Amino acid sequence: MHAAFELDMPTLVLARVVSIVVFAIGIPIMTLRKDRPETAIFCWSLVMAILSWVSIIAAVATENLYIVAIYAGCISGTVSLQWAAVVVMTGRKVHSAWFVVPPVGVALGIVVLQMPATDASILSCVVLGLQLGAASTFIMLYGRLAVRRSTAVLMALGYTFSFFSAISRPIELLFFGSFSLYATSGDPANSAAFLGSYIGTTLIILSWLAALKDRAEARLAALAFRDELTGLANRRYLHEQGRKLWTQSRWQGTALTIVALDLDYFKRINDRWGHEEGDRVLAAFGAATAAATPAPTVAARMGGEEFCLIYVGVDAKSVHGFIERLRDDFAQALRLPDGEPVRFSAGVAQAGPEDDGLNNLYRRADNALYQAKASGRDCAVIGLPLAA
Ligand code: GH3
Ligand code: MG
Ligand code: MG
Repeated sequence: MHAAFELDMPTLVLARVVSIVVFAIGIPIMTLRKDRPETAIFCWSLVMAILSWVSIIAAVATENLYIVAIYAGCISGTVSLQWAAVVVMTGRKVHSAWFVVPPVGVALGIVVLQMPATDASILSCVVLGLQLGAASTFIMLYGRLAVRRSTAVLMALGYTFSFFSAISRPIELLFFGSFSLYATSGDPANSAAFLGSYIGTTLIILSWLAALKDRAEARLAALAFRDELTGLANRRYLHEQGRKLWTQSRWQGTALTIVALDLDYFKRINDRWGHEEGDRVLAAFGAATAAATPAPTVAARMGGEEFCLIYVGVDAKSVHGFIERLRDDFAQALRLPDGEPVRFSAGVAQAGPEDDGLNNLYRRADNALYQAKASGRDCAVIGLPLAA
């Protein structure tokens, strides 16, 4: 009863075509957004994958050179589009030649060289293998900048499986001198290549869905933790991250210094120049803080014209110096319509053994800020240690 274990290739091929069609319809419906060009490109790659399956069935039936060339173009185009989608996802630009050169090149090569169908398919396997290997390497190098590491590994694995599937034909030819190209029987050589590409495609599509989820989560995190006007973190992020940094600094014994910062006479700016000018000041302060060197570990807008900075591994005296430099940078970067710079006051507090938490430390920085305001503003005051 060995028949039960035989792989029925036509059924597998059909199953695969159906699954790709389902994904090609399902992914756009579930995920397509106009602001995600990479999803659109990936969906086009699935359409191209369907065309390649249609053309390979026609090529098998007819062994017509032109149809084999169309198949080679479609399959190379599928990988070009998928690779382009990953490139777009990592924030890079894709030249439009990318979409046409590989598929048109391989199709033209086959037609111009008037290759026998078997040579033509070997050529397309080699081109495809090169594309898949390069895509896999690219994803390992750059993919994890855009998505989680595990997603990038899954995606690279998908392309690696497909790569081995593609090069199995040329390898077979190299070692055995021949191969049965169009067999749809249960020939183990065909089954292995087919299975490799099936697993590869499944991993690629799964990892692509995971990548879309990663991107959506990153977007949500940006919305949840970022202050829109200044581009800095918000109070929620400061609390979450601050707690982690606090614990870390306690474990490692590194310095942790916090700055409470408030723009001076900001209400007057609003009253005199209007709310829009006030907003411009806040945005400029955010930009100056983001560009400051050394950059604070966390820079957050606490609300209104109040900010909080956290520095790890730097003592209060050094941070005081950084704040004075930020004062100069900000005064240089922004002037009010009458040519006056905007000033700010700050309170600096370094965590000591007596501090029992971030809130406590923040309170000390805030007290120091109050002293700075009381002593005439436009200055930074270092808060005294708690037990003193
Ligand atoms: P001080 O030097 O004592 O800090 O005086 P101040 O005027 O800066 O402080 P006060 O707390 O009296 O005023 C803060 C003002 O900030 C009041 C509020 O209208 C304004 N404000 C809060 N959020 C925003 C905002 O998002 N945009 C603008 N333009 N103004 C804001
Ligand atoms: Mg103020
Ligand atoms: Mg204030």
